[in-house]
Amino acid sequence: MSTTVFSNIDWQRNGKQIGTLHLPHSPDDDAWGVIPYPAASIKNGDGPVVVVSGAVHGDEYEGPVVIAELIRQIKTEDVCGQLVLLPSFNAPAMRAGRRTSPIDHLNLNRVFPGDDFGAPTQQIARYVVEHILSRADFYLDLHAGGRTLFIQPSAHVVMADAMDPALIKTNARLAEVFGVAITVQTSNMGDYRTSAGYTSMKGIPTLAAEMGMGGWMSGASVQATRDATRRFLKHTGVLPQLDTVAPQKTRWTRIHGGAAYVFAPFDGYFERRFELGDTIAAGQLAGLMHQLARPELEPEPVFFQSAGSLYAHGLVGHVRAGQNLAVLTEDVPAP
Ligand SMILES: [Zn+2]
Repeated sequence: MSTTVFSNIDWQRNGKQIGTLHLPHSPDDDAWGVIPYPAASIKNGDGPVVVVSGAVHGDEYEGPVVIAELIRQIKTEDVCGQLVLLPSFNAPAMRAGRRTSPIDHLNLNRVFPGDDFGAPTQQIARYVVEHILSRADFYLDLHAGGRTLFIQPSAHVVMADAMDPALIKTNARLAEVFGVAITVQTSNMGDYRTSAGYTSMKGIPTLAAEMGMGGWMSGASVQATRDATRRFLKHTGVLPQLDTVAPQKTRWTRIHGGAAYVFAPFDGYFERRFELGDTIAAGQLAGLMHQLARPELEPEPVFFQSAGSLYAHGLVGHVRAGQNLAVLTEDVPAP
């Protein structure tokens, strides 16, 4: 069995092809339509197959902008091997400006390795796994904080004890070349429902990155994404002649267990008492939870459970029980 997704791109063919993945979709107002996902393949003989994706979440824009720019600028003769570009991996979510797909309400980064005949989001994941990621030698997945998160620009690499030491070394090198201020080690080997977790589990050198936040983009965030992506691509060998600028020295960190997170203790209104990048002590006040429907009640303090550096925080004031308020990282030695 195979997914019903079809494409006008021949993934084996040399040359530059800008096309579409078509996912058959038959909603109430369209019997025989498709959901289009833009994509491109630029292939020139033998060499590494490098896949770059953006908009796995539809409210994260730096990746799609930089990938679209590569689609316009890169010529076949620039490539050694194959560059596969997926600027809007979750196209329905991107059209809606949302994190998850409005069609099936699924988060693309929780459905890998996909399902041939599942919901639309599962089907597109399955197609990309079978036809694209199965051939990849390197994978770069560009994210941002989206509408609900402030986050420090950073690379994410999967590193777990069970992994091949050679792969850990390769991934560490990718993070250093990507060259943004912070790299976060994650250990989600048991959970490969994210695209980067899936490729890591398959032994493919992989880097994910968080390059913007807030559901907007700025000249600075786009430029940082452009510079880091170009360094990554040159390093893989797929674009050997690409002009690049020097990387920053990255700081190695990890998010250590549940105590690194602060969650809302109940439905209410959060008054934040920290900023991105703050150095946090265990037990420090994180903020106050107000119960505005009951003004006679004093606000309740919320505290950090561990020490670290303030890496990310939610950006809405009206929060529900369990909603993320803050995430801390701690420094670790370079691998
Ligand atoms: Zn994302």
